[in-house]
Amino acid sequence: MTPSFELFVDGASREGTGGGRIPLVNPASGEQFGEVAAAGVGDMGSAIESAHRAWESGWRDLPPGKRARILFGVARALRDNLEAIARLEQRNIGKPISDARDEAELGARVFEYYAGAVSGFCGQTIPVARGGFDFTLRQPMGVVAAIVPWNFPFPIACWKSAPALAAGNSVVLKPASLSPLTALALGRIAHHAGLPAGVLQVVPGSGAAVGDALVTHPRTRKISFTGSTAIGSRIMQLAAPDLKRVSLELGGKSPNIVFADSDWERAADTSPMSVFANTGQDCCARSRVFVERAVYGRFVERFVAATRRLAVGDPADPATQLGPLVSAAQRASVEEYLADARARGSTFAAGGGRPRPEGFYLEPTVLLDVGPGDRCWREEIFGPVVCIVPFDDEAAMIREVNLSPYGLSGSVWTNDLRRALRVVRQVESGVISVNSHSSVHVEAPFGGFKQSGIGRDLGMSAMEGYTELKNVYIAD
Ligand code: NAP
Repeated sequence: MTPSFELFVDGASREGTGGGRIPLVNPASGEQFGEVAAAGVGDMGSAIESAHRAWESGWRDLPPGKRARILFGVARALRDNLEAIARLEQRNIGKPISDARDEAELGARVFEYYAGAVSGFCGQTIPVARGGFDFTLRQPMGVVAAIVPWNFPFPIACWKSAPALAAGNSVVLKPASLSPLTALALGRIAHHAGLPAGVLQVVPGSGAAVGDALVTHPRTRKISFTGSTAIGSRIMQLAAPDLKRVSLELGGKSPNIVFADSDWERAADTSPMSVFANTGQDCCARSRVFVERAVYGRFVERFVAATRRLAVGDPADPATQLGPLVSAAQRASVEEYLADARARGSTFAAGGGRPRPEGFYLEPTVLLDVGPGDRCWREEIFGPVVCIVPFDDEAAMIREVNLSPYGLSGSVWTNDLRRALRVVRQVESGVISVNSHSSVHVEAPFGGFKQSGIGRDLGMSAMEGYTELKNVYIAD
């Protein structure tokens, strides 16, 4: 029998009305293994209304200590279910099980962090010139719409829901149609752990069909979106007439800058996974590598050797580092980029083909001799493709880095402290790391410059973003 999944609304599983059902396909085999109910516009409207009622009738006014206790309970319950969550993700989107385990743990950690943050989250007292007493309140907004993508479904669902709930909002979470299962598990687990019914609604459904209804509903006060720049821009336009708050985490084309004075051997050994992890379906993928010419040839040789050692295979195998792409359509889109690279005469130093007949696999692909106007160099591919170019002049290289309309993440490899500080200041991106490929820390703000987004996830910045700031003045 085909396993079937429903919406999770008001503390219970419910069938959708009018949205039909979405097939769930295992990307490792290409075979359908289940289906999920899709919300219709009416389902979305009633989920939002009851999220508002749950907020107004209790969650908004719950003492912070009780809210924190409930969220710690959610974190504990997630920890009790880490393996089940990881298995769901592995089957649903073909994520290698070792990554899926790490991401399940990350989701639980996010709930722990924001549960702990509740008691330290406060306003200021301000010594205003006219005397009296002035202070600020951080107040919840109401219903937050959290719209998440399919590449990191569980952690992103957690890093939007947890701070929004901790700040005292209710949440309507819309997972991507390709990856609804761990979001539904989050809703169910959180409710059984003590989160009141209606406070976290999980409503799968096609973004094209119910997206507008979610964004424009009068009860929706804030839209927290992670996904493509095109849809993010559309959401911002839909939110504009009512001046709804938005935070947008969007696409990227991140640089990986390697200077000759660095430990470039370590950079070469570790850089393949900075672009190929999650089969390149990562907004932070370091897909443009700039290498100082003095070490370019040796760097490329070592990078290609490390790429060839990557274990591409069955996501259920703990040794697998790269699984399939999420769908046939995603692979076809990446293959169009590869066809363009071939037509333009780029060199394929590794990869370019399909390593297996079944599933949606693609080899990790290393492109050299890429021109500055080539699509592979300019556009977010969202697949296992990297371009490596040499550079001679630091200032010219930085200008090329910043020509990208994106500005999400990046790495700089150098042992010269002054150069590191100069470059991190000049690169236009929301996060950047030196001698590391790490972009995401639960405790630190994460988000983009330019067309990579507006607002920040994670850290205390995210929690502030789920509140309105009120100033109160009391006369003497
Ligand atoms: P997407 O097509 O923009 O979809 C993201 C979410 O938006 C999905 O839940 C989708 O639902 C929904 N959606 C689609 N059309 C909508 C509409 N008209 N109104 C409201 N919601 C709508 O992106 P994706 O293909 O899932 O994810 C890949 C993109 O996400 C890449 O560009 C990547 O860089 C970006 N990303 C960014 C970050 C970051 O933190 N900056 C993190 C991860 C991913 P359906 O699935 O039903 O269409």
